[in-house]
Amino acid sequence: MNNKFENMLDSFSDARRNGFLKVKELKDQNKNIVGVFCTYTPKELIYAANAYPVSLCSISEETIPESEKHLPKNLCPLIKASYGFALTDKCPYMYFSDLIVGETTCDGKKKMYEYLGELKDVHIMQLPHTQKGSLSKELWENEISIFKEKLESKFNTKITDEKLKEAIKLCNREREILKEFYSLGKLNPSVISGYEIQKILQGANYTFDKELQNKQILELIETFKNKYKNKEFLSNKKTPRILVTGCPLGGVVDKIIKPIEETGAIVVAYENCGGAKNLEFNVDENIDPIVALGDKYLNIPCSIMSPNSQRKELLERMVKEYEVDGVIEVVLQSCHTYAIETHDIRRHCTSLNVPFISLETDYSQSDLGQVKTRIEAFVEMI
Ligand code: SF4
Ligand code: SF4
Repeated sequence: MNNKFENMLDSFSDARRNGFLKVKELKDQNKNIVGVFCTYTPKELIYAANAYPVSLCSISEETIPESEKHLPKNLCPLIKASYGFALTDKCPYMYFSDLIVGETTCDGKKKMYEYLGELKDVHIMQLPHTQKGSLSKELWENEISIFKEKLESKFNTKITDEKLKEAIKLCNREREILKEFYSLGKLNPSVISGYEIQKILQGANYTFDKELQNKQILELIETFKNKYKNKEFLSNKKTPRILVTGCPLGGVVDKIIKPIEETGAIVVAYENCGGAKNLEFNVDENIDPIVALGDKYLNIPCSIMSPNSQRKELLERMVKEYEVDGVIEVVLQSCHTYAIETHDIRRHCTSLNVPFISLETDYSQSDLGQVKTRIEAFVEMI
C-alpha cells in the first residue's frame, strides 16, 4: 500500500485524538456540540439544529477509580468510564458538550444519567424496551419530537422539515459508505484485517467533516478492491473467519480483536454497535421525517429490547454473507442484558452449525492472559 493510504488509515486510527483539537476549534467558532452515548440517538436532529454530535462512549479505564467513588465497582466499565470522564473533566468531548443526550437503555446507564445531570445539561429520551406494538412506536416518535424541541430551545434555532430531510440524506450517505467499507470483510480471501476495519469505523465517530470522510473512505474501498484484484491477500481459504457480536467494543479492541488475529484467524464482520447493528439500515427518505427516524432507531437490535429476535436474524444473515466459521461474543462485565442473551445466541449459532464462544471482560488488563488462552483454544477448535 502506498504512503497516501497508510496515512489515511493512520488518520482514522488517530481520529479520536485529533478530534480533541477540532472540537476546541468548533467551540472557538461558537458552534454547538452534543455529546451522545448510544446508537439509539437520532443524530440527524442534531445536524438539523446546526450542531455537531460527538461520541462519548468512553473507552479507557483511566477514570474508573474516580467514578467508583459514586458508582458500584461491579458495574459495566463503559458506564463507569463515561461518568468518570465527566467527573474528572478529562475528556475534551465531554467537557465541550453543550448538551448530552442519553436514552433509557439499560438500568445502569439510566441511573448514571441522574448523577451526570448534576454535572452537565443532560436530556433523556425515554426509550421503549420493545419494538412491538403501536404504543412503543408512538412513545418513541413523541420522544423524538421532544428532543427536537429541546434542541430548538437550547440552540435558539428552528428545525424545519427541509433541514431534517437534508440531515437524513447526509447521515444515510455516511452509513451507506461505511457499510460498503465494512462489507469488504465479505471478500474471501481477505484483504483487510478486522483490526483495521474496527479502527476506521471508530474513527468515523470522531470525524467532523463528513464529506471529506466519505471521500477518503471511498478511496480506501477502491484501494482494497484493487488489492483483491491483484491477489494481495491477508488470508487463505483455510484461515478461520470470525464474526464479533455483543457489547460495544471501543474499550476492548486491543484486548480482544488483536489476539484473535494474532492466533491466525481473521475478523471479517462486526454485528456490534459500531458495525452492522447501527449501519446496516437507513432512514426512509420518502416518509414523514419524524416517523422515519422513529422506525430506523427503534428497530436497532440491541439486547435491551425484549424480545430481540432481530439480532438473531441479522446475525444469521451475516454468518452466511461473510462465510463465517466462528462467532465470538464480547460481554462487558455486569452487562446483564447481553449476558442473558448469550444462551439464546449460543443456541442459535449451534442451530446454524457455527462454533460460538462468549467472553466476559472489562477494560482492565488483569484477565488478558485468560482471554487470550480462551481465544486460542476457540480458534484451534474451529
Ligand atoms: S449496545 Fe445497546 S445500549 Fe449499548 S450503545 Fe449499543 S444500542 Fe446503546
Ligand atoms: S454494555 Fe450493557 S451494561 Fe454497558 S452500557 Fe451497554 S447495555 Fe448497558
